[in-house]
Formats: sequence, C-alpha cells, structure tokens
Amino acid sequence: MSGTPIQYRDGRWIVPDTPIIPFIEGDGTGPDIWRASRRVFDAAVRKTSGGKRAVEWREVVAGEKAFKATGNWLPEETLDVIRAHRVAIKGPLTTPVGGGIRSLNVALRQLLDLYACVRPVRWFKGVPAPVKEPGKLNVIIFRENIEDVYAGIEFQAESKEANDLIARLEALGKKVRAGSAIGIKPMSRFGSQRLVVKAIRHAIDAGRPSVTLVHKGNIMKFTEGAFRDWGYEVAKTQFGDRTIPEAETGAGKGDTGRVVIKDRIADSMFQQLLLRPAEYSVLATPNLNGDYLSDACAAQVGGLGLAPGGNVGDGYAVYEATHGTAPKYAGLDKINPGSVILSGAMMFEELGWSEVGRAIIAGIEGAIAAGRVTYDLARQMPGATEVSTSTFADAIIEHLA
Ligand code: NAP
Repeated sequence: MSGTPIQYRDGRWIVPDTPIIPFIEGDGTGPDIWRASRRVFDAAVRKTSGGKRAVEWREVVAGEKAFKATGNWLPEETLDVIRAHRVAIKGPLTTPVGGGIRSLNVALRQLLDLYACVRPVRWFKGVPAPVKEPGKLNVIIFRENIEDVYAGIEFQAESKEANDLIARLEALGKKVRAGSAIGIKPMSRFGSQRLVVKAIRHAIDAGRPSVTLVHKGNIMKFTEGAFRDWGYEVAKTQFGDRTIPEAETGAGKGDTGRVVIKDRIADSMFQQLLLRPAEYSVLATPNLNGDYLSDACAAQVGGLGLAPGGNVGDGYAVYEATHGTAPKYAGLDKINPGSVILSGAMMFEELGWSEVGRAIIAGIEGAIAAGRVTYDLARQMPGATEVSTSTFADAIIEHLA
C-alpha cells in the first residue's frame, strides 16, 4: 500500500486508510522503544481494520541521529515533513549540554502552533503506585503550551533592563525591592480561551462530567485570575447549552446532563487530586500549573513509564514520550516502551481511529495483568516476570482487543 497525507478541513481530520505519519525514533533508548511501539501500532491497526488500513511510517531525524547524519540537531527538512503531514510521533531526544540549538519541542510548538499539551493520566490495574487507591484518578490535563512561562521575559538582577523596569514600575505606583530580578508572564484571553475550548470540546465528545480551571488567581488576579474568568466566559458564550458553572448546580452535586465548569486554586488542586481524585475529570490549566500537575498526577498512578503526551493545535499534532532518553539502558532492549505506545493510542483516538486506541490500551492492560512487564514495573510487582522491551511488545500484541 502506498500512503496518503492526512488533511484537515473545517476543523476535522481527514484520514485516509493508509495515512503517512512521520516519526522521530529518538536518542538513547529511543530506537528500542520505537521498534517495539511500531510493531504494536501496526498489529493494532491491522487487527481492528481486518487489514484494510495501514500506516506508512516515514522517518524524519532530529537529535543525535540528525547531528551525526547532517551536522544539524534539527534539520529544516524534518520540520517541513512534519508540517506537510500534520501529525507526527516522537521518542525522547537528548538535550545537548551547553545549549546552542533550538529545542525541537519549542521549535515544533511554535511552527505548528501546538497550543495544548494534552496528558491523560489513569491507572493500569496491577501497576504499583504510592497511593492506596490509584484507580480513583482518571484525568486528562489540557495545559496551555505557548504563553505564561514559555513566553516569559526575564531580566537578570541588577541589570540595566531590570533597573529600568523597576523605575518604570515605581512611576506606576508599584514598589519593587532595588536590585531584584524581574520576570514577566504574559497570558492572553485568546491563548487562554482557545485552550479552554479544546478542553470543553473534549469533555463533551468523550462524555466527561466536568472541566476544572486550575489557577492561582487569588494571588495573580490579572493573569491567573483572568484565566479563570476567561474560561468561564468562553464556556458560557460558546457552550452555554452544554455546560453549567459549578456554582449553579447546587454545590456541584447532582446530574445536570451538562459539563460542570469548576475552578480550583492550584495549590489546593494538588491536595484535591490526592484526597478526592474521583471528583475531577478534565483539567484546563495555564502553562506552569499544568507542568507541575502533569508529573504529580503521573507519579500518583505509578510514574512516567506509562504516561503519554501530545502537543496539539488546530490541524497539527505531535505525540511524544514524556520521559527522557534513559541513555544507560540504550540498546539493551530493557526499557519500558509504554509511554510512546500510549501516546500512539492517543494519536489514533485523535484521528478518529478510536478502536485502535482501545485495542492498544486493552493490550497494555492484558500484558500487565499477565505479569509480563519491563524491569521498572517488575521490580515493584510481586510475582511479575521481567521481560525485555520487545517481549513486552509481544505481550501487548497478544492481548490486543
Ligand atoms: P530520563 O531519560 O527520563 O531517565 C531518568 C530515569 O527515569 C531512568 O534512569 C529510569 O530510571 C527512568 N525512566 C525513564 N524512562 C523510562 C522508561 N521508558 N521506562 C522505565 N524507566 C524509565 O531522564 P534524564 O536521565 O534526566 O535525561 C536523559 C536525557 O533525556 C537528557 O538529555 C534530557 O535532556 C533528555 N530528556 C528528553 C525529553 C524529551 O525528549 N521529551 C524529556 C526529558 C529528558 P531507573 O534508573 O530507576 O531505571
């Protein structure tokens, strides 16, 4: 079969039976992980479509592999191919010490305007977790991916720029300690609302009960507080008949048939997710709050080895491992490929091949239930058998639904 590019028209993906999907295998353990993941993806697509569908994977290079081949850590051609094909998947990449290159993630985010970092977090039965009831947490975090600290402007303490700004702020009646460093976090109505819209759309489409806006508006009223206000505003103006603010539901209880829009202060949210996880479903957050929450939630259900992620915009998406290259395990066929495999499941869901996503998740659940898992899980699962990356993939394929 020869592939065809995915297209995007009127807010919808147009996915052929043989889509071309670019991939970056990644550095360190990336090749081990990609080999295993690709076999799982191909088997799941074949099984769910009766052989009618197949992905044509197209390799593009970045990171160390690109540097060795082209002298460039991030070739323009890689960016061009991803842009032309709209949806891509990547393994982890080495960040060269000392800097000097543009981060691939930042470059892709900017080029394709991938304004939502989407991280579903759920527990897989049998996975060791630090809390008593990890299964109660099942959230999907929509984190704004362009503004806030990612658009942050900083000036070093005692620099001319910082001193000038302090003087200007004093002229505006604001007191800043002399010699301070200055940081600015820009957040816009446009950037906040399009993120919240994506979160609400997901809640409606997936039948999820609530969207919680997580902010620090008690302290930063015009950035974090505005995120909350803009969130409620867009829920009302764009989804007035499908959503309801928590305050209008009678303490958030009872089935209203609509998506309940709540808000929580960020620090309290960390407690809530530990103490009352079942009350939360979709979270919409500014950039920095979401950064912290994503990793905390992943840890709560057993760690980053099974935490998928996607950077999604309008008509473009890049899915990726949420862990790094774990270089000490490179080439040993040892590492857990679960993060990339579950990121692929997310990708297929987004493209409308939900049955592929479901099959992959059933495969992972089955492999874990059978106790055939990679070292990271096996070392904490009494009675489990440690298997290699490739054998874990075999076990997932055996259990594809
Ligand atoms: P790391 O690669 O995530 O590895 C840290 C430790 O986490 C590993 O030693 C291993 O723990 C565990 N781990 C990571 N991935 C795992 C997996 N798939 N299965 C099981 N265990 C896993 O973090 P790092 O060592 O700080 O970073 C290495 C390189 O990756 C750096 O160049 C960093 O910049 C880069 N990085 C890239 C990305 C990305 O591309 N998205 C993200 C983060 C870091 P044990 O030792 O306990 O087995």
